[in-house]
Amino acid sequence: MTDIHLYNTRTRKKELFKPLREGDVRMYVCGPTVYDRAHIGNARPVVVFDVLYRLLRHVYGAGAVTYARNFTDVDDKINARAAETGRSIRDITDETIGWFMDDMGALGALVPDAQPRATEYIPEMVAMIEALIAPDDKGVRHAYEAEGHVLFDVPSFPDYGKLSRRPLDEMQAGARVEVATYKRDPMDFVLWKPSTDDLPGWDSPWGRGRPGWHIECSAMAKALLGETFDIHGGGIDLAFPHHENEVAQSCCANHTEVMAKVWMHNGFLQVEGEKMAKSLGNFFTVKDLLDKGVPGEVIRWLLLKAHYRQPLDWTEKGLAAAKRELASFYEFPEDMGGEDERIAEPVLLALADDLNVPKAIAELHEMRRSMNFHDLSPTMRALGFYGAWVLPSEPELSYSTMIHAMASDLDDARNNKDYKYADAIREKLIRAGIEVRTTKQGTDWKFTPDFDAAKLEEIGDV
Ligand SMILES: [Zn+2]
Repeated sequence: MTDIHLYNTRTRKKELFKPLREGDVRMYVCGPTVYDRAHIGNARPVVVFDVLYRLLRHVYGAGAVTYARNFTDVDDKINARAAETGRSIRDITDETIGWFMDDMGALGALVPDAQPRATEYIPEMVAMIEALIAPDDKGVRHAYEAEGHVLFDVPSFPDYGKLSRRPLDEMQAGARVEVATYKRDPMDFVLWKPSTDDLPGWDSPWGRGRPGWHIECSAMAKALLGETFDIHGGGIDLAFPHHENEVAQSCCANHTEVMAKVWMHNGFLQVEGEKMAKSLGNFFTVKDLLDKGVPGEVIRWLLLKAHYRQPLDWTEKGLAAAKRELASFYEFPEDMGGEDERIAEPVLLALADDLNVPKAIAELHEMRRSMNFHDLSPTMRALGFYGAWVLPSEPELSYSTMIHAMASDLDDARNNKDYKYADAIREKLIRAGIEVRTTKQGTDWKFTPDFDAAKLEEIGDV
């Protein structure tokens, strides 16, 4: 079995990956808040962790990997969107989830094994909050109720800040920006908050209300993957406070040392050297690009080109180059067809080294240069690249393979002076609407507008 090494944010080391349970790999990645189209920055973790998912499935077997990615479908931004538009929350979240699946599908991302919606796990969240309020085996309570809110008591968890390694004073300064009077410590964060009648709410021991954002990932990861699982992923912007809060909630409620063994974070995405922001006018969605005719696979290629932990600068120039580069792999379309998926050894070793995609791409180019289509073709597909945008449509591809074979049979027959057989092949090709020319190099052919595949497939004429 190939050894996989992954950089672990928790330990700040690249480590040999070993699943907690043999032959059973469990991974959680924070998903989108569903009120709007996914922008290009949202797509980066999706394709990065899709490559990891594909690698793990290749190494451990598809059935041995469980990948969960959530949908945050209860959030004040969704409530605001509903109030603005007069539409129901369920309408907005259902539609947005559909968009997300379509857009990420266009980027070649596999569908995770579980895609929990936060609103389907409210009882699990309430149970976890109750566990945090109850005293633990040392008699410590990790959460408290105040004015209809339930807050996590950050000073009760001495490990707080260890994942993101933020200095305490920096975390405190960030928290002080908006301090509610009911908080005992400025860093305490919301687990549950009261809902007014016009807001979505659920009955709870603390009155009608709704969960804070962080608790949903802790509750859903526990329900789907267990109290401790192998890999937790997300963008680096989530490391603090979101992931720090997830760790605090999960470890305190479950009485565990760690929530996830390995924490992985992808770097920021910038646009033309600047932070992407609606106010800077450089903000665009995946759908905007697809609508402009940029193939999903080209978007995927560009998102993967930089190492996942490095920042990625998205530029128009880079996009054009990515398109040319990816198309170069399909210069000989007949050799890139087929359906089998397999990651060839040199690419596998690159990916197993903390998802070194730039190295993997160099290996792909090496296969292309040496015309090693036997490895290149199944490896491209295994990485989510099918070449559908450059390859001829499937029937033409398979017929051209068939015609190539017939033309070479024709040449063999002629070389063996079996002219009767050679003529029969030639006539069959012509009948099917193929133009046939005899050259010094052998039989040359091309499709004419009269091409009739059915005639080519008739058997017994030759
Ligand atoms: Zn999360």
